[in-house]
Amino acid sequence: MKIAFLGLGHMGGPMALNLHRAGHQVLAFDLSDAARARLAAEGVAMAASASAAVQGAEAVISMLPASQHVEALYLGEVGVLAQLPAGTLVIDCSTIAATSARKVAQAAQARQLPCLDAPVSGGTAGAAAGTLTFMVGGEAADLERARPLLQAMGSNIFHAGAHGAGQAAKICNNMLLGILMVGTSEALALGTANGLDPKVLSEIMRRSSGGNWALEKYNPMPGVMDGVPASRDYAGGFGTDLMLKDLGLAQENASAVRAATPLGGLARSLYAAHSLGGSGALDFSSVIRLFQPGS
Ligand code: NAD
Repeated sequence: MKIAFLGLGHMGGPMALNLHRAGHQVLAFDLSDAARARLAAEGVAMAASASAAVQGAEAVISMLPASQHVEALYLGEVGVLAQLPAGTLVIDCSTIAATSARKVAQAAQARQLPCLDAPVSGGTAGAAAGTLTFMVGGEAADLERARPLLQAMGSNIFHAGAHGAGQAAKICNNMLLGILMVGTSEALALGTANGLDPKVLSEIMRRSSGGNWALEKYNPMPGVMDGVPASRDYAGGFGTDLMLKDLGLAQENASAVRAATPLGGLARSLYAAHSLGGSGALDFSSVIRLFQPGS
């Protein structure tokens, strides 16, 4: 398929590369020269602008930071939707507000453009390995058209429901992840304050009723697990500021639907304090530092 891929950052870069390697004709664009150069070096064709990238595309895929970037791309300044012929498939994989996803989808539908919100889970490692989980909102028939593209980038594809449902599922998952990481950090800090070896304690909890994804795959305590951000001074991974954004989206959504999310709210405040302390660019598992005196 002829694909325009817009946004080649930590996630979009490896996702576009996997589509290219799967034999699709990818024409990509990012505002950043460095991001464009990284992908061009891998053999992915680059366009000079988003508008140039979408010319002749059968599908447009975007992976941008936040709601305002996605709205600007499709509806605002860049105005990509107005440049697409009817029938072009639009897939936004960014994590954004469900309300923004619905706004873009409505505008797309008005122009006979099939549109899906398809945020992902699995992090930069999943993006590179092509094993992302997609949570998709939109029409089932449109998802079937998108499926071969999503399969080139991921291994789990869920149809969450109508437009915006993919984003709603994503913020539920990330709110739980944010809470889990704080809880795991708190427990590990309590254990080490009691003189326990964090490796031994992690193994005890992992195999006991406290077991969870952070203990299984993403231990926040340095020296416990190889290959995770904690073992490289929290470089790479999923940034504290991105987690803060997702927890903010969860709280805004909770207000809109009148849901009670007190732990999500507390977790958001803790990541905000951590970010204000200068750790916004570090992986979100560095939140354990809030519980480690002197770190
Ligand atoms: P990133 O900041 O590394 O990349 C975003 C890219 O979009 C940047 O390179 C930026 O230059 C580009 N961009 C912004 N506006 C643009 C425009 N109008 N046209 C073209 N390019 C534009 O962010 P990321 O880590 O790749 O995350 C992207 C999205 O995926 C976010 O919504 C994030 O919440 C979500 N996400 C990230 C992870 C992760 O582990 N990093 C995991 C799951 C989901």
